[in-house]
Amino acid sequence: MQTDSPNALSRAKGSRPEMSHPDSVEAERWRMAAELVDGFDDGLNICHEALDRHVENGHGDQVALRWLGKSGETRDLTYADMRALAARFANVLAAHGLQPGDAVFGLMGRVPELYAGALGTLKAGMVFTPLFSAFGPEPIRTRMEIGSANALITTASIYKRKIAAWRNELDSLKLVLILGDEAPEGCVALGPALDAAAPDFDTVHTAPEDPALIHFTSGTTGKPKGAVHVHNAVLYHAFSGRHALDLTPGTIYWCTADPGWVTGTSYGIIAPLVNRVTMIVDEAEFDLDRWYGTIQRERVEVWYSAPTAIRMMMRTGAEAARPYDFSSLRFLASVGEPLNPEAVTWSAKVFGKPFHDNWWQTETGGIMIANQPGMEVRPGSMGKPMPGIEAGIIERAEDGTLTELGEGQVGELALRPGWPSMMRAYLHEQARYDKCFVDGWYLSGDLAMRDADGYFWFVGRADDLIKTSGHLIGPFEVESALIEHEAVAEAGVIGVPDETAGEVVKAYVTLNPGHEPSAELERALRGHARKALGPAVAPREIVFRETLPKTRSGKIMRRLLKARELGLPEGDISTLETDES
Ligand code: ATP
Ligand code: MG
Repeated sequence: MQTDSPNALSRAKGSRPEMSHPDSVEAERWRMAAELVDGFDDGLNICHEALDRHVENGHGDQVALRWLGKSGETRDLTYADMRALAARFANVLAAHGLQPGDAVFGLMGRVPELYAGALGTLKAGMVFTPLFSAFGPEPIRTRMEIGSANALITTASIYKRKIAAWRNELDSLKLVLILGDEAPEGCVALGPALDAAAPDFDTVHTAPEDPALIHFTSGTTGKPKGAVHVHNAVLYHAFSGRHALDLTPGTIYWCTADPGWVTGTSYGIIAPLVNRVTMIVDEAEFDLDRWYGTIQRERVEVWYSAPTAIRMMMRTGAEAARPYDFSSLRFLASVGEPLNPEAVTWSAKVFGKPFHDNWWQTETGGIMIANQPGMEVRPGSMGKPMPGIEAGIIERAEDGTLTELGEGQVGELALRPGWPSMMRAYLHEQARYDKCFVDGWYLSGDLAMRDADGYFWFVGRADDLIKTSGHLIGPFEVESALIEHEAVAEAGVIGVPDETAGEVVKAYVTLNPGHEPSAELERALRGHARKALGPAVAPREIVFRETLPKTRSGKIMRRLLKARELGLPEGDISTLETDES
């Protein structure tokens, strides 16, 4: 390995055009991060770091991806297998006239071909965009239009139901690859095409700043944005995979996220493979016994999941976990939404290890704030900024000037730009992108607080903040208090307009098995919340729901609860979870 090659070092430094402190400790961190990747003399490519170099270094026989099919079958792909499959993909794309820089979209369930297709696209110097296969035709079409898709990798069933009707209206789309041996008219069957392609392909020497991935945000607060990420991001994927998730060569690792969400790519494809782990990929959706059984059978060591799944486990109770052996687990992490303190203590009890919350966004490309391995976990806190990441709590005055706030004060969570995996653009939305950067800060749109020991505490999205009788309330603390009650499984909290108070707090809750909605329970929950939060913050009204509206990535859509409450337009609901698949 050319781990300490001067080109890798100089590239790491040169890759930070907006770096705030060029000679600081942070610059040193990126030099360290650069040591986790090889690079070429004249560039670097994510696929080289994720697959090729491991094979060249004699690890071709290690399982890279263990696939668990929906109906119980398993398929192991070694690093050599994955490299060959990615190369075949790259050859197929090139043979159909696609060029470096072209846009390839992935739209299918979690099958090995999705993973190899993503890496083959990068190998060929093209740009990959994963979409949730469960999206309906409209969200797919909009995203493929915004991204000027040139190629699509999908299945016959998805193609027929969701693409065929408008395919010819998307001029940019040259190639549709269909999983399996047969393809509808105008499409190419992937099976025979891959078989006929050579298993070698000279990985394109992309420049560090060449685009690699375009990821659409979850759409929790509005219309999704297309965040552009470059090959150089791999430095940060390598670094944060190692230091936020404890991924080391040979680790058995399970990221439960779908690549349609940024977590499922940054930490479901790139970071794990770059760190040469063995990844578990489960095609099926959440199922309690299947999940517990998978951890036990596969001897999963590092597990990266999300609050929505953890709350589903909690809903079933600790009893359901008792028959399983979780002794293989070494590190548990969670992302995507605030992790309620209750979930941290519960997981420590049930799995013998607490979930470690961490915070980041599609825009940041990688984990920014984390309860890092070896650090004391403070339930309810997101942890501390990663080494090399400078975070601040900022107040914006009316005239736009920024002030950094001190400990204990709530303000907007901001980061000093310049780490390698930061987005480089919102596709076709330059003004919106520019607005994120003010006075040397990247403004996240989330509100948080830093305590005296440097731990960061999530308060809420700026849009979700509730203003009642002069108090500012983040929905998270109210939701966390509610789910501490034995009857409550999940809670979504919003502010509704009120003549005297400005806004009052209203909660929507789903219940655990064995509890039924009643006026008495509502009173009991309000009493419980008042005791925990005080009368000013506790919800004035609590309503019971079978389910809460969520994005595909499992985030509660509070703006939708609010729009429905107030009878306002629902806005963009393209990522709303539905039963369609
Ligand atoms: P959109 O930007 O389209 O509204 P989104 O912000 O939900 O969607 P993502 O980039 O997938 O899209 O999610 C990032 C956001 O998720 C963060 O800005 C934050 O609000 C929330 N989030 C992620 N991790 C955490 C966490 N550990 N604690 C609290 N909130 C989190
Ligand atoms: Mg966002």
